[in-house]
Amino acid sequence: MKILKIQTLRGPNYWSIRRHKLIVMRLDLEELADRPSNEIPGFYEGLVEVLPSLIEHFCSPGCRGGFLSRVKEGTLMGHIVEHIALELQMLAGIEVGFGRTRETPTSGIYHVVVEYKDEQAGRYAVRAAVRLCQSLIDTGSYPASELEQDLQDLKEMAADAALGPSTETIVKEAEIRGIPWTALSARALVQFGQGVYQKRIQATLSSQTGILGVELASDKESTKQVLREAGVPVPRGTVINFLDELEDAIADVGSYPIVIKPLDGNHGRGITINIGSWEEAEEAYDAAKEVSKAVIVERYYQGRDHRILVVNGKVVAVAERIPAHVVGDGKSTIQELIDETNRDPNRGVGHDNVLTRIELDRTSWQLLEKQGYTLETVLAKEEICYLRATANLSTGGIAVDRTDDIHPENIWIAQRVAKIIGLDIAGIDVVTDDITRPLKEMDGVIVEVNAAPGFRMHVAPSRGIARNVGAAVIDMLYPPGAPSRIPILAVTGTNGKTTTTRLLAHICRQTGVVVGYTTTDGTYIGDFLVEKGDNTGPQSAQLILQDPTVEMAVLEAARGGILRSGLGFDASDVGIVLNVAADHLGIADIDTVEKLAHVKSVVAEAIHPNGYAVLNADDPLVSAMAQRTKAQVAYFSMNPESELIKEHTRSGGIAAVYENGYISILKGDWTIRIEQAINVPLTMGGRAPFMIANALAACLAAFVQGINIDVIRSAIKTFRASSNQTPGRMNLFNLGKYHALIDYAHNPHSYEALSSFVRSWPGERIGVVGGPGDRRDEDFVQLGKLAAQMFDRIIVKEDDDNRGRERGDGARLIIEGIKQAKSDFNYETILDETKAINTALDSATVNSLVVILPESVSRAVSLIEARNPIPDAVEQS
Ligand code: ATP
Ligand code: ATP
Ligand code: MG
Ligand code: MG
Repeated sequence: MKILKIQTLRGPNYWSIRRHKLIVMRLDLEELADRPSNEIPGFYEGLVEVLPSLIEHFCSPGCRGGFLSRVKEGTLMGHIVEHIALELQMLAGIEVGFGRTRETPTSGIYHVVVEYKDEQAGRYAVRAAVRLCQSLIDTGSYPASELEQDLQDLKEMAADAALGPSTETIVKEAEIRGIPWTALSARALVQFGQGVYQKRIQATLSSQTGILGVELASDKESTKQVLREAGVPVPRGTVINFLDELEDAIADVGSYPIVIKPLDGNHGRGITINIGSWEEAEEAYDAAKEVSKAVIVERYYQGRDHRILVVNGKVVAVAERIPAHVVGDGKSTIQELIDETNRDPNRGVGHDNVLTRIELDRTSWQLLEKQGYTLETVLAKEEICYLRATANLSTGGIAVDRTDDIHPENIWIAQRVAKIIGLDIAGIDVVTDDITRPLKEMDGVIVEVNAAPGFRMHVAPSRGIARNVGAAVIDMLYPPGAPSRIPILAVTGTNGKTTTTRLLAHICRQTGVVVGYTTTDGTYIGDFLVEKGDNTGPQSAQLILQDPTVEMAVLEAARGGILRSGLGFDASDVGIVLNVAADHLGIADIDTVEKLAHVKSVVAEAIHPNGYAVLNADDPLVSAMAQRTKAQVAYFSMNPESELIKEHTRSGGIAAVYENGYISILKGDWTIRIEQAINVPLTMGGRAPFMIANALAACLAAFVQGINIDVIRSAIKTFRASSNQTPGRMNLFNLGKYHALIDYAHNPHSYEALSSFVRSWPGERIGVVGGPGDRRDEDFVQLGKLAAQMFDRIIVKEDDDNRGRERGDGARLIIEGIKQAKSDFNYETILDETKAINTALDSATVNSLVVILPESVSRAVSLIEARNPIPDAVEQS
């Protein structure tokens, strides 16, 4: 077995529309291709021994043990690798279930598709699965230590990638509401929503949290000062910087007992409470000083510790926090009780689990000493031994929900406090003996206010009701009815994607919104180019969707990106499929137009159910996608008599057709004329039928998206296919004596489209043709044939970059095609593109048309520009 390639899919994809997170491994079974599992001695037995839990995999038999019975009867290794990769992840606590194994066009080579939660762990799992299988084949077993290491590694990868517990509760709530989210690569930021509707959080700080509130809260003394002035009960105290101020400070506070803590500490670090003597005070001062330069000395208030969570001005949860402690059973020592408590799987290290393990520190020893205990003491039944003075969860404390118990006056105080400090999300620490009674009756105080409070204690309290505080945060960021998504219009097809994307973006922009769009030649926002390059993959889509200025997205989705990593969005509002024709066949295991159609159909299927699939009624492979999509369907057609269109509109459907020279929308029985094609510059005076088809698709998409007809009309009249707006797309130049056309047609389908325009040219038609080297031989021959039908004279050239093909080989095949079409055809071969273009231009006759199909559009444009074309050569009526 040999792993040929591992790809990570992150969006709707060829294998599944719903499951976005898939690993696709291209696996060469080599000699195992003809050797199913039953023919490998000891394989089944070894597998059952190493991974007995595979019994739970149902597989095609649909019952427990189903998969293992397939292994026993004999199944191929790709299929087994798939199940093992899933099982390894599950044994590591990662919940996955989806897998597929399919043969590729190359015999012996398989695609093994496996779900993942964490990318790195997913990739690791498929590799480990291959390793495990190979070991079973070679030795009949897989060492237990290896398996353990694999699982350990997987667990660590998953843990490293996991969101923090508070972040996770917010993200979960967003998912439930269908609000998209992405973890940004920087600073553990999570972004919700798209474009202008995006909001961010970092743990429990939100994009609406003010920096002033955060800074004030982290300065405990200033917080108290501000609150005291507002009449909120806070501990009496003072701040000191030097030990020799301590005595006066204690006198200031009144008397013992006191609390000494760092001015800007957290998680209970450096705090000593209930200090009763000068010796203790000195020691506490040193401890606090280790955490912070300035030290707070304040009165100690007897009482229980509470945390009140205020989100967006409302108390959403209250927890009572109880310091780390153990309860005696009459026979175990304190040490044994601690060990027992720490064995609770809910206790982890730091904030990575619901609870934190109890660890002893300086204050623990003091507490034990005060109670007259050592770790060897056996506690009586029900006797409680506190091990920490403060109740922070991160020092092993537990939480009890008290949300329903808090007194209304205390709610009012907490809500007021959050406003006074200026925090949208605030955790308020209150010490009082009874939270059900007003603070002032109990001599209760607010000891501090926390920005970015942890949610663990509310979401997973040790006792009481769990509170969905994540929902309160999402309610604040996205109140009911507030949008989180921008409209996404996606465009795919074999030919015309870029042109249609640009035209559609142009139409959308006329509504006054900022449109972000991606095409083969770059990523654009509004009037500006963000990034040049082939940007039809998911990363470019993400760039647009994450941009805070973008109000609408038009995204060209090409085959390559869909296959490589899936779509860059979960669902669009409108998905256009222009056409499916033979191009790129044989690349990435896609060897038939049907498979190619399946790739493009991802765009038609990943549409919101109330959105629209805009499909070409004239292309059976495209119109058939109506069956696969859950969205509503709108068709476009060059033929107003199309049966499909008639049937569709008869039942009230929406369509766009080219009728009587008009680009029109049909809605049920009604015809809405948008514009005559001859007035649409893109269609070259109505002479380029395929451009009319692209315009139909764009107009229809705009229409179903709710854009006004008048806006659409004026937009299509102002959109020009000039070489700077759509470089390489039917760029016509007027050179006085003759015309030159640069077009990027590079497959038989687009050649045919081009030829429908070229053949209507009145003068001589001269072609400069060639094709990308990675196409199949038969594609070159086909190009030659088509070229011979469209031109009077041809110069055959080649690309500079032959993509692995031998020099002259492509030209030879094209000539073969030319000769098959017309044996006496007038052609010459000039492999160098620049020379070929110049020769053609030099020899152009009066009224002729030189059609250049270049490798480099910009070079071809500059060769023509050098000959001073007459500006604005675009044909207009
Ligand atoms: P965290 O960030 O986890 O909330 P922290 O390190 O910021 O904690 P504080 O909240 O100031 O520290 O104090 C920790 C705990 O110590 C309080 O929740 C309270 O139980 C106790 N405490 C602090 N100050 C006093 C005080 N003046 N009187 C009584 N108890 C106090
Ligand atoms: P690519 O795959 O290179 O990104 P694309 O799908 O984005 O191509 P465009 O760049 O819009 O397509 O057009 C490329 C060429 O395809 C055009 O110049 C024209 O020759 C041809 N073409 C455009 N639209 C169509 C169409 N609807 N049908 C057939 N051919 C077309
Ligand atoms: Mg605190
Ligand atoms: Mg394109």
